[in-house]
Amino acid sequence: MLTFDPVGLTSTQRDGDACVVCHKKWPRPRVRVGCLPNSAPVMACDDCAEALLPSKDNSVPVPRHSRAFS
Ligand SMILES: [Zn+2]
Repeated sequence: MLTFDPVGLTSTQRDGDACVVCHKKWPRPRVRVGCLPNSAPVMACDDCAEALLPSKDNSVPVPRHSRAFS
């Protein structure tokens, strides 16, 4: 889990209402990519989360049932 510096983020990003990378607010960023030093969640849209998060090959032993393919 990454820790983000809140100084570089907008208030919308700090609230988890905008993607931490591209600032997109709609569709709402759904992937938690990290947190702030105060443990508030930092969100990213699907595309940016894929770029931020480590490769799926290094799979961690945590089932990811939360990811929906609709
Ligand atoms: Zn994004």
